[in-house]
Amino acid sequence: METFEEHYASLHTALEQHLPGADMALIEKAIRYADDKHRSQLRKDGSPYIIHPLAVAQIVAEMGLDTDSVLGALLHDCIEDTDTSHEEIERLFGTTVAELVEGVTKLTRANFSTSEQEQMENLRKMFMAMSKDIRVVLIKIADRLHNQRTMQYQTPEKQISKSRETMDVYAPLAHRLGMQRIKMELDDLALKYLDPDDYQKITDHLNAQKEQDEAFMRSIQAQITERLASVGIHNTTYGRIKHVYSIYHKMQVQGKSLDELYDIYAFRVIVDTIPDCYNVLGHIHDLFNLVPGRFKDYISTPKPNMYQSLHTTVIGRQGIPFEVQIRTWEMHQTAEYGIAAHWKYKQGGQGSGDEKDFEWVRRLLESQQDTDAEDYVESLKIDMFDDEVFVFTPKGRVVSLPTGSTPIDFAYAIHSGVGNAMIGAKINNRIANIDAKLTNGDIVEILTSKSAKGPSRDWLNICRSNQARTKIKQWFKKEKREENIVHGRSSFEAEMRRAGLPPAAPSDDELSPKLLKKLSFDSWDDLYAAIGYGGLTATKAVGRIRDDITRALRQKEEERTPKPLRVEEPVRLNRHAVNGVIVEDIDSCMIKFAKCCTPVPGDAIVGFITKGFGVSVHRADCPNTAHRDDPAQAARWVRVRWANLDEQPFDTTLELDCITRDGLVLDVATVISTAHVHLKELNAKDLPGNKSIVTVRFEVKNVGELESIRAKLLNIRDVMGSRRGQN
Ligand code: MN
Repeated sequence: METFEEHYASLHTALEQHLPGADMALIEKAIRYADDKHRSQLRKDGSPYIIHPLAVAQIVAEMGLDTDSVLGALLHDCIEDTDTSHEEIERLFGTTVAELVEGVTKLTRANFSTSEQEQMENLRKMFMAMSKDIRVVLIKIADRLHNQRTMQYQTPEKQISKSRETMDVYAPLAHRLGMQRIKMELDDLALKYLDPDDYQKITDHLNAQKEQDEAFMRSIQAQITERLASVGIHNTTYGRIKHVYSIYHKMQVQGKSLDELYDIYAFRVIVDTIPDCYNVLGHIHDLFNLVPGRFKDYISTPKPNMYQSLHTTVIGRQGIPFEVQIRTWEMHQTAEYGIAAHWKYKQGGQGSGDEKDFEWVRRLLESQQDTDAEDYVESLKIDMFDDEVFVFTPKGRVVSLPTGSTPIDFAYAIHSGVGNAMIGAKINNRIANIDAKLTNGDIVEILTSKSAKGPSRDWLNICRSNQARTKIKQWFKKEKREENIVHGRSSFEAEMRRAGLPPAAPSDDELSPKLLKKLSFDSWDDLYAAIGYGGLTATKAVGRIRDDITRALRQKEEERTPKPLRVEEPVRLNRHAVNGVIVEDIDSCMIKFAKCCTPVPGDAIVGFITKGFGVSVHRADCPNTAHRDDPAQAARWVRVRWANLDEQPFDTTLELDCITRDGLVLDVATVISTAHVHLKELNAKDLPGNKSIVTVRFEVKNVGELESIRAKLLNIRDVMGSRRGQN
C-alpha cells in the first residue's frame, strides 16, 4: 500500500525540480483542503483517497505546468466526489483554479467509452471542445495516467472498458499534443488489460533478454560517448528498449514474431545545439553502418506535433540494427512533454490560459491537419468545433449536432419516432424547454408520449439541424394533408397579393395546367400541401409563375380593349379640349356626346367621326362601338380622352422688342386670338430711337403651346426679339 508520506514527498521533489516558483503555501492549503474533503473516501486498494490527487498533481508538475494546474490537479475530484462547490473553490483558490476543476469534472462525468469505432473521432473532438482550457485536458490526461497505473484494483470489466477508452481517446490525444512519454505509458498500461497474453509474451521476452540487451546497449552507448568526448561534443547518451505497445504494434503491422523483430533498440543523444546534432550524426554514420532509407531529418521538417529530432538506423559490429535519435535539450523537452513543455519554458511566469497560450495551442493543433496516415485521422483543434456541439444520450452515446441545437434536434437525431412523440425534455436531469440551447457534454433525455400530437410548425423555426427540419417536414407532409392545404393556400394567396396579382390560383383551362407543370405539381392542392408542410415556400412558388400570370393577364386585358385605341398612350399636350374632351390628331373639332351611353369624365371613351357633326364620343364599352374593328369603318374611330384636370391654363407674359410702327399691336392681338388662347393684357411702350416694347400676357396650357405662339409672334414684321417676362 502506498502511503501519503511517500506521495507527498514525491510531489515536493517534482515541484522543486520542475516548478521552483510555485506558490507552496497555496499548494499546501489545497492538499489539506482536498485531504479534508476526501476524508471519508478510500481508494480501491484501501489507501487514503488523497494519494490520487497527490499523484495527479505530481504528474502535472512533471509536465511542467503552472501552479494553477497543480492546484486544479489536487482539487480535481472535489466537485465530483464531495460536497464542494465551484464557488467555494473560487473563493479559496481563485477563478482559474475553479474553472479548471469544473472543466475536469465535466470530462469526468462524460463517458468516453464506446464500442462504436466511428464514434472515436467524435469522442476525441468532444473531449477537446469540452475543455476550453488546454490545461483541463492535460490534468485529465494526468488523472487517467494515474488511474491506469493503479488499474489492478478495479474489476475486470472496468479494467477493460477503461483501458479501451485510454487506448482510443487518451493515448491518441497525448500523441496529438506531442507528449510521447505519457502516450507510451498509456499505451503499455492499456495493452496490459486489452491483450494480456501478448503483453505478457513481449514483457517476458524482454525480461529474458534483459541482461543481454543491457550489455548490448552499454557497449553501444560507450562507443558513442567515447567518440563524442574525443571530439569535444557535450552530450547525454542513453539506450532504451522501445516500449511494449510499439513492439506489439510492429508485430501486428509487419506480421512478424518477436524473434524476427529487430529494431527494438533506440538510442538518444541529447546535445546543446542544432549544429551539434548534425555533427553527432556524422560521427554515428562513421562509427556504424548505415541502414539505407531510414534517415529522417525532423529538425528541418518538424512533425506536425512539433516533434524535432534526427533519426537514423545503423548496424553495429554485433549485426543488430538500432535507431539513434539526436536532438537538443529543448527538442527533448518538447518530445517528452509536448504541449505542456510550453509552460515549462515560461520560466517563473505563472502560465495562464491567456490569448497567447491559446494561439500557440491552436497553431499546434491546426498544424496537425496534414498529419500523415499513421497519425490519427482528422485534425484536432479547439476552435474547429465552434460549429458543433457534442451531447450525450442518458446511456452515454455521443451525438454531434450543429451549434445552437435544441432538444428537438437531439430527438430527431436519435430517431424520427422519438422526435414525433416528444412532449418535453430533460437536460442534465432537469426539465428544460424544448428550445433550450444545448452545450457540450449535456446529457439530454427526451420525454415522449404515445398520445403526443406530433411536432408543431414552430419547431421548424426552432430546430437547427437539417435532419430535424427534414423529418418534421416529412411528418407534416404525411400526417396533415388537409391542414397543410389550408395553411399552404393562405400563404400562397397572401404571397400572390403581395406580388400584386389576383390572390386565387388561376382556374383558366389553358393557363392553370401550364402553371402547374412549371411548378411540378399535379394539382393546386398538391402545391398548397407542399407549401403547408414547408417543402416549398410560397414566395418561391409565386416567384416561379408570376411572370406567366402577368403576361396572361395583360393579354386578356388587351383582348378586352379595342386594338386601334391605345388609351394608355402618353398624353399629348398640344391639343385643345372641347367640352372637356381632347381628340387625338384632330385639332379643335366639334365634339358631342353619344346619347346611347352618355359618357362622363373618367369613363374610358372612344371617338367616332360623324358625317358633318364632328366627333361623337362613346364609352369604350358601349355596344355601339362593338364593330370598330370593321375595316370599312376603322379609320373613322379615333382616340379621344378627357382633358386632364391638371391641364389648367396658366398666365404667361412675353416682352417683344419691336421697331415702332402703326398696326403692330393689332398684328400681335390677331396672332394671339387665332391661336385660340385667351389674351389677358396687351400694351406697348415706346422707347427712344423708334423702338418699343410690346408686352403681351395670355393663357397657355404648357410650354409647348407658349413656344408655338412665340414663334408665330416672331414672324410678325418688325418684331425683332422676345423674352419671357414677369407676370
Ligand atoms: Mn481523478
